[in-house]
Amino acid sequence: MSTVKIAIDGPAGAGKSTISKAIAETLDFIYIDTGAMYRTVALKAITNHIDTKDAQAVCSVLDDLNITIRYDKNGQVIFLNGKDVTKEIRTPDVSIGASDVAVIPEVRLKLVQLQRELASDNNVVMDGRDVGTYVLPDADIKIFLTASVDDRAKRRYEEMLEKGCEYSFNEIKKDIEYRDQNDRNRAFAPLKIAEDAVVLDTSGNELHESIEMILKVIMGKMNKNDEK
Ligand code: C5P
Repeated sequence: MSTVKIAIDGPAGAGKSTISKAIAETLDFIYIDTGAMYRTVALKAITNHIDTKDAQAVCSVLDDLNITIRYDKNGQVIFLNGKDVTKEIRTPDVSIGASDVAVIPEVRLKLVQLQRELASDNNVVMDGRDVGTYVLPDADIKIFLTASVDDRAKRRYEEMLEKGCEYSFNEIKKDIEYRDQNDRNRAFAPLKIAEDAVVLDTSGNELHESIEMILKVIMGKMNKNDEK
């Protein structure tokens, strides 16, 4: 039986990971968070005191970089050379570093290979920036999630506050704008809307409203695909 692939792309803070995780749970699919992989490469560079903008230096750690993924009751657990780094990769420094290393084609090629392997035998919901356009161009359903910069920054700010982190709203907004700029303008696999994606704007939505809206689109498309 063929597997079902759902690609969810969009800019930072659009709610992709929370929404994708909830959808994967509802459908009993595997959730693959590709951003976590770019974050792990950035963490490796930062811990080796490498400038994440220095492509040559970042590439020099790729051979000694082994990313593995496991799933537990909370979802995806990510390991860097055997060490669980799931929490460590969530700091603002790592976010900025991830967006720097994501510009480097060698980094992307290595991670895309892993992403495709993970998706090959499973029903998946995969989120990222280039899933519908590059990683899984034949995905059955493609969603592009977006929201205004202020809405996205507010969401991230509230998440950070809950975790007890002390970053101002403006710092977080600047981080998001920096990453948007990097993600949209890189030469290789930039953030863009796939031609066959459904674009959904989550501005002003409560989380449950966005999840319901997206599930409705997905169920509609899955039923249509079944009829073919
Ligand atoms: O999704 P998340 O915000 O965790 O991703 C961290 C960074 O990794 C993004 O800002 C983006 O630059 C990069 N990324 C990417 N391609 C993906 C997923 C993430 O370039 N498929």
